[in-house]
Amino acid sequence: MNYRFSDASNNTPKSFIREILKLTQSDEIISFAGGLPNKAFFPIAAIEAATVKVLENDGANALQYSTTEGYLPLREFIANRYKSRGVHVDPKNILITTGSQQALDLLGKAFLNKGDYVCLERPSYLGAIQAFQMFQPQFQEVDLTATGIDLPELEQQMAAKQAKFLYAIPNFQNPTGLTYSLESRQNLAEYLKRSGNLMVEDDPYGELRFIGEHLPNVYSFAPENVILLGSFSKVCAPGMRIGWMVANDAVMERLVTAKQASDLHTPILTQRILAQYLADNSLDEHIKTIQAAYFEQRQAMVEALHQYMPEGVTFTEPEGGMFLWVTLPKNCPAMSLFPIAVKHKVAFVPGEPFSTEGKTSYDIRMSFCTVDAATIVEGVKRLAAAIAELTNQ
Ligand code: PMP
Repeated sequence: MNYRFSDASNNTPKSFIREILKLTQSDEIISFAGGLPNKAFFPIAAIEAATVKVLENDGANALQYSTTEGYLPLREFIANRYKSRGVHVDPKNILITTGSQQALDLLGKAFLNKGDYVCLERPSYLGAIQAFQMFQPQFQEVDLTATGIDLPELEQQMAAKQAKFLYAIPNFQNPTGLTYSLESRQNLAEYLKRSGNLMVEDDPYGELRFIGEHLPNVYSFAPENVILLGSFSKVCAPGMRIGWMVANDAVMERLVTAKQASDLHTPILTQRILAQYLADNSLDEHIKTIQAAYFEQRQAMVEALHQYMPEGVTFTEPEGGMFLWVTLPKNCPAMSLFPIAVKHKVAFVPGEPFSTEGKTSYDIRMSFCTVDAATIVEGVKRLAAAIAELTNQ
């Protein structure tokens, strides 16, 4: 059978990380590759109790079709969380999505025609690249510095390419772990308002800050010009597949129609269970536990990198989130290092899939959230041995 697949499908590569994860699933390999939240912190008993409660109290409605916008008490919970940070969001401007990954797909549906430009940070989240690729846009990457996106370059590229939107992750970015400064957020918001451009602010990691003060979302400075995405994946459990989008009325209408066409609504059963869990437990307390563990693991990784990496290797020191970004010497391409590292029983994600430019990468993404501190130290030692082997030291 000769299947006549669409151009979009033909042009969208398989997720590189999923392929890598298959390779690194052996128990012997210490994997810094996956972006999997630490399963030790999944609130299993509390979710079980919430499930029983929902089914016993209102099982029929929890199993019935529901509204596309999402379960109102859950949207109210999200709105109240923004309020506690001083940001006014009306629950009617929150759309519950099947993970924030679905939000990326809906944005493609609502905004992208074939050939349109999307601006991305260099590097960017590969899942967003993949989601947008289904709509056959063109990508323009803009440098990401230690304090935020390069604004003069962004202004120039957005204007030259008439880009539909900027997609960016200002908090503890995936893959680099970098965070925009307050000034950079304000300047970006001013630029968006001045130029009438749109930003998609993806924020699944904002609550996972373990160093320094919380910084306001870009959305809070320019709500008309920003669509803000959030997720329960990193603060509760990714298997629930519950995220959300914040958008003004005009955009909401388009997104709701796009979502209707995709899946009618996010499973109401899981929305109800999550809402019950959030009503009966303190999310803040739960997040504190996760933050404390990730902080310890981040410290272990940063200290081990300082201790064991050879000269010429640099790395980011994130204030939150799950990842850091290691830049290797020029005689150490990430893709060449990967098989040697797997031989030394350690894995990471080479930088290539985080860019649309197809260049050789000398960067690797390391996740510090999945394995404990002692294992992290051992993994970094193995990584150092792999680098030594590749560079003949
Ligand atoms: N955006 C970013 C930046 C991410 O890192 C992830 C998860 N790796 C997602 C979106 C998707 O998250 P989810 O669909 O689980 O909410």
